[in-house]
Amino acid sequence: MMHFSKSIAAYEEAKPLMPGGVNSPVRSFPSVDLDPIYMDHGKGSKVYDLDGNEYIDYVLSWGPLILGHADEKVVEAIKETAEKGTSFGAPHVFETKLAEEVIRRVPSIEMIRMVNSGTEATMSAIRLARGYTGRTKILKFEGSYHGSSDSLLIKAGSGVATLGLPDSPGVPEQLAQNTLTVPYNDLASVEAVFKRFGADLACVIVEPVAGNMGVVPPLPGFLEGLRQITKEYGTLLIFDEVMTGFRVDYHCAQGHFGITPDLTTLGKVIGGGLPVGAYGGRREIMEQIAPQGPVYQAGTLSGNPLAMAAGYMTLSQLTPEDYKEFRRKADRLAEGYKAAAQKYSIPLTVNQEGAMMGFFFNEGPVTNYQQAKSCNLSHFRKYFATMIEQGISLPPSQFEGVFLSTRHSDEDIEKTILAAEQAFKTIAE
Ligand code: PLP
Repeated sequence: MMHFSKSIAAYEEAKPLMPGGVNSPVRSFPSVDLDPIYMDHGKGSKVYDLDGNEYIDYVLSWGPLILGHADEKVVEAIKETAEKGTSFGAPHVFETKLAEEVIRRVPSIEMIRMVNSGTEATMSAIRLARGYTGRTKILKFEGSYHGSSDSLLIKAGSGVATLGLPDSPGVPEQLAQNTLTVPYNDLASVEAVFKRFGADLACVIVEPVAGNMGVVPPLPGFLEGLRQITKEYGTLLIFDEVMTGFRVDYHCAQGHFGITPDLTTLGKVIGGGLPVGAYGGRREIMEQIAPQGPVYQAGTLSGNPLAMAAGYMTLSQLTPEDYKEFRRKADRLAEGYKAAAQKYSIPLTVNQEGAMMGFFFNEGPVTNYQQAKSCNLSHFRKYFATMIEQGISLPPSQFEGVFLSTRHSDEDIEKTILAAEQAFKTIAE
């Protein structure tokens, strides 16, 4: 039996000080009826909690740590940079270095603006789309999460879905009315919205692989259809690649699927574990941003040297070969899980794309939020608890993706499959 006494004590100390004891809701474990585990340190594919328990980590700080924990070169780059000063509020050459690297790899990005989080990236991209088109309405997909800004906290998937909350109080009705939502992968509904509101639609924002209702890849033709209809109506297409960026493919999801949006938002991986977001796209659109254009957006710590150094050192170590490896390992994990589930007659659907995977306790297929929601949450709770006990750290929610790093070894994968088999056995008992 593992012991968690230090984690429990740390949580008790935090609870009166911070809402729910945490600074981001997904870090507490309400949907699995457990207390959160406090991590102490990490190395490669492993994390270690305050009580000294070791886990193979599939959370990876919710996606950023594609090279695993405390990558030597990333840590060295942060240290070297910090010794010269942590922030200047003046331009720094590392901003240019990371910008060049992102622009070189992401087909849609000709110009980029760095910000501090994915939320800030999507919020700013929406403002830019509205400023550029002079239109007000936006279209998003049910179960897609694009950060916690007001306009986007509508039918927003994972965190909200996990807590079973409705769309958040505090989001003004007048604002919510401008955010239209349709089911993911449903082009007919998109077309119906465009027929009615096309002339008022500033943008469609979409996760090119949905990652906040579990992992749901686009059906063939879905992204193509979005590209076509947005072009037809003069609406901007925004790919929110905060999660998929450099995780699905060396050239992001857009490179993988061969669809080029007008704007792209990034975060997570491009910060190498430090707080970063970015939005970029076609030059003529990006030139509308202040100080070059009239659409205002700013940030005291935007383009922070430490974050730029960590992001640059992360991207520069990733190779196209790594993405082949991610797919090979994800295939093995999927195959192992499916065989184990079959052995104990547990309904299980596995969705995967690059270094992102989603396991749903249902018969499937899962192509939208409605189908994702139909899974057996009691199975998930047992699965999660049994995996933790066996040293496998997973996101504490059925509606979150599972991530791989370059440091996850074949041995890690095999251990995880064996642990899952044990978890499925427990569920079946
Ligand atoms: N967009 C997507 C697709 C995300 O998955 C997330 C976070 O999970 C965000 C935006 C918000 O990013 P952040 O948490 O950095 O604000």
